[in-house]
Amino acid sequence: VFITFEGPDGSGKTTQIKLLEEYFKKKGYDILITREPGGTDISEQIRKIILDRKNTQMDRITEALLYSASRAQHVAQVIKPALLEGKVIICDRFVDSSIVYQGIGRGLGIDFIKKINDMATDGTEPDITFLMKISPEKGLSRKFSSDECNRLDMERLEFHNKVYEGYLKLEKLYPKRIIGIDAAKSIEKVHEIIIKKVIDKQF
Ligand code: C5P
Ligand code: MG
Repeated sequence: VFITFEGPDGSGKTTQIKLLEEYFKKKGYDILITREPGGTDISEQIRKIILDRKNTQMDRITEALLYSASRAQHVAQVIKPALLEGKVIICDRFVDSSIVYQGIGRGLGIDFIKKINDMATDGTEPDITFLMKISPEKGLSRKFSSDECNRLDMERLEFHNKVYEGYLKLEKLYPKRIIGIDAAKSIEKVHEIIIKKVIDKQF
């Protein structure tokens, strides 16, 4: 089973993944937690290049290709083998992130992102995706101290709003796979909702 978590920065993906991991472990499942960009040595090295704040001159196409290159390695080396072994895989971000951040946020278009990711994933798709829904303003203020948040210029917030709109669009496009979760609720409540959905799916 391949489960992914998506959502804006500060929406609580990492926290909820840890809680869901504990749930599956208690149930005796063989579970693998991983993240993107990253999840392998090579992919983590690519992550450093992408997220290095000094690389301000990075072209948006270079960026999108690096995300998909990182993903190609991750899928081939980690996700596919784990699926074959019958593991439950939980991944922090996957192709949906590229569609909304690079395709919509950076304006490269959904088709371009799909094309380069079809090559990277070679048909590997999540069985279920939890979309942590929280406004970018709330999410960002959770992630950064309020001072730091005030320093975020409007351009940044505008970008994150565009990204969030993209997520809502994907939720409508793929209602079977993508499950929207109200991430503004408490950590415990959100976890409870996620467990209910997991039980519904009968993994
Ligand atoms: O999920 P995580 O917080 O580790 O993501 C790291 C950063 O990379 C975030 O700021 C996120 O907005 C950004 N990102 C991106 N495009 C992606 C995936 C993540 O800009 N496809
Ligand atoms: Mg996180």
